[in-house]
Amino acid sequence: MEIQTNSLKNKIFFFFLLLLVLVQAISFFSTNYAKQQEEQQRLASQLNKADSLLKNVVEKQQYYLTAFAETAAKDSDLQHVLINDNRNLRVSLNNYRKQIDADIAIAINSDAEVLAELKVQNSNSDIKRLATNPQSNYQFKHPQWLTENSNSVYYQLEGEVYQLTIAPVSDANNTLGYVGFGYSLNEKWFTELATLTGFDVGLGLHNNNDWQWLSAQQIKNRTVDGEASISPLITAANNNYAFSNTRLGVINNTPLVATIYHHKLQFNDRYNQYNESFMIMIAVILFISLLGAYVIASSVTKPLRRLVKLSRNITKGKYSNKINVGNTKELNQLAEQFADMQQAIKSREKAITEQAYLDNLTALPNRNQFYRDMHDFELPFVLCQLNIRRLADFNDTLGHDVGDKVIQEVANRLKVLTKPLYHTSGNCFLIRFDEATISSVKACISALNEAIEPSFNYQNIALHLQVNIGVTVSVDWPQANQLLKEVDSAMQIAKRDNILYQLYDRQIDLNTLDRLQLVNRLKIAIENNEFTLYYQPKLNLKNSKVEQVEALVRWQHPVNGLISPDSFIHIAEQTGQMTALSLWVINEAIAQYFAWQAKGIEIKIAINISPENLLNDDFCQLLVDKLCGKRTLNKALSFEITEDAFVDHSSKAVANINKLRAHNIYLSIDDYGTGYSSLAQLKNLSVQELKIDKSFIQKLMVEPVDQLIVSSTIQLSHQLGLSVVAEGVEDKLTLAWLKELNCDKAQGYFISRPLPANDFYHWLQSSEYGYLASESINTLTNEETKVS
Ligand code: C2E
Ligand code: CA
Ligand code: CA
Repeated sequence: MEIQTNSLKNKIFFFFLLLLVLVQAISFFSTNYAKQQEEQQRLASQLNKADSLLKNVVEKQQYYLTAFAETAAKDSDLQHVLINDNRNLRVSLNNYRKQIDADIAIAINSDAEVLAELKVQNSNSDIKRLATNPQSNYQFKHPQWLTENSNSVYYQLEGEVYQLTIAPVSDANNTLGYVGFGYSLNEKWFTELATLTGFDVGLGLHNNNDWQWLSAQQIKNRTVDGEASISPLITAANNNYAFSNTRLGVINNTPLVATIYHHKLQFNDRYNQYNESFMIMIAVILFISLLGAYVIASSVTKPLRRLVKLSRNITKGKYSNKINVGNTKELNQLAEQFADMQQAIKSREKAITEQAYLDNLTALPNRNQFYRDMHDFELPFVLCQLNIRRLADFNDTLGHDVGDKVIQEVANRLKVLTKPLYHTSGNCFLIRFDEATISSVKACISALNEAIEPSFNYQNIALHLQVNIGVTVSVDWPQANQLLKEVDSAMQIAKRDNILYQLYDRQIDLNTLDRLQLVNRLKIAIENNEFTLYYQPKLNLKNSKVEQVEALVRWQHPVNGLISPDSFIHIAEQTGQMTALSLWVINEAIAQYFAWQAKGIEIKIAINISPENLLNDDFCQLLVDKLCGKRTLNKALSFEITEDAFVDHSSKAVANINKLRAHNIYLSIDDYGTGYSSLAQLKNLSVQELKIDKSFIQKLMVEPVDQLIVSSTIQLSHQLGLSVVAEGVEDKLTLAWLKELNCDKAQGYFISRPLPANDFYHWLQSSEYGYLASESINTLTNEETKVS
């Protein structure tokens, strides 16, 4: 496991650890030092005591020897044998010696000649043997000792040192001689002293910094710490020994010194023992403290870790965490801040989420919410997609505020049904009827229709609300997308056919299948010349004459028969075949124009071109070449384009429109009112004509709003210098109304349905709007009429 040095917990722990070790070390060394001092003092005082004891022993022994020697000197028997009986002197002297168990006894005459000298040999052992000096009457080596009264001296003899007291033997007048008794300062003596003082004791002569070791048998035998036979005197500088020297006296002018000593290690044993237990104690304290440090570090960082965990939870989107950080004021404040923050994030997130699933305008759940709710739907149910018709017109003519009001109003009316309701896009709503089946679709629709009500008054303007509804019934589970596709395609059909509702059935999808087949066939159709043009007259309302027709393409399908352009124009656009198709139409129209001309009628032709064409620079150039050659066909042909051509594709389409306009090609805006462009925008394109979409015209007589829109459009267009065409005129009254309002042209079933070229020719002959070709028949040369 890797230790994280930057973790707060570890930092605190290591800080404590360091502190503890430091404190323990200081305490250890100071205690150790004090202990050492104490030991030294103790040693010094013990040495001192031992020293006093030694002195005391020596003094007592001296006193004893002196007292005995003086007593013996006064003995008349001894006096007698000293002077007279040299033979018995030794016996007598020995008897005295025995009395005090002295190690040496000596008798000296007044001439300082040694008369007898008795010495206990092997004095270290219990078996004693007496040795006498073989020679008699030899001169005593230390005559100076005899002059004083009793004298205590240290007498060295044959390697041994004796504490000796000599007392004069005298009668009333004269000194007769001397007797002396002494104890050997031998091994036994030292041993006894050692026992008494607790120290080792040695004896040495100190001469000019030079030590002569006299007696320290024990030391010689003992091994301390590997140092064998070391004299403490020689190694006085040796720190391993504690010692004290006491001067006892002098031998041959050399100080005789008793040394009390001890190897320090032996003392240290105790001290070491103490140290050991002290170390153990320190180790235990350290361990406990470390445990404590760990607990403290953990408890200090615990609230922080909790806060960290909390913020992780917040990151994961869990906001209802409560934490306990103990009773530290600052941490509590922090925890409160966290709690507030959680709440703030929670409510902000809630708001954002609601926005994502809610439509702003209607406050209804949106498409996202629909996807969410799908899982909870219970089968069977009826799903309706409701489309507000011509919402764009309201936006355009009355302003977006009105459009928004319309949407809100529809939403409010639908809410009354208290069914699950969604606002999925600008003019679309989804509504679900639970436990409804196919048989109850009609009931659902009439409930919807009733809720909507057609009339809506806005600032004294009566708006007519019209809806198309796509319906699907779910008895088993479709995918959300499939469900929406079903209601949408049903709704598109309701919209296209302008009916209240369309129930989805598989036929709709089969139509899509047909569509696929059409896609495959379309290319061949152009090559096979399977298309034909129908012509629908555009009536000039100023002179009530037809001077122009709109060319409308149809597909003469070998199997399916005549197919309407609504079914394939889109496909051609999406499969990139629009250029070919449009060129075919243009060529066909030109041919027809000349054909009619040949027949004596001068009919201009309006041709529809798709937005795709306007994006194709080559196509536009071709058009210019074709129309602006020597025949100046640009007077005979005009082109209808829908608004989305330039709304969707912007600059390129606009550039091409301007190019066509620069060559005086006549352009007309088709289906005006179904898109989003305003008249001002169209004006900038400098087109010449505006075709009001048929959806405004078809019900003109029953829709006051349509009248309002159409009349204002005519007025505005005229102000902008545009010619106005109304398409979808289906009755006489509408035609009259349009004429009244100064509309320039009218087109519609009332005048004529789109007709094949020949039929149109005949229609024109018989129609009251007929145009007499002969009036302008000679405007083009014969040569030109042959071209097709
Ligand atoms: P559009 O350009 O708006 O053409 C007018 C459509 O309205 C024609 O449908 C016509 O038959 C229909 N119509 C005319 N008068 C009335 C009326 O009084 N009442 C009703 N209900 N409908 C009327 P059509 O021929 O089916 O053409 C549909 C669309 O196909 C055209 O709409 C046009 O956008 C497109 N289209 C037709 N031919 C061509 C073509 O050659 N090239 C291109 N690019 N599009 C074409
Ligand atoms: Ca048209
Ligand atoms: Ca149109």
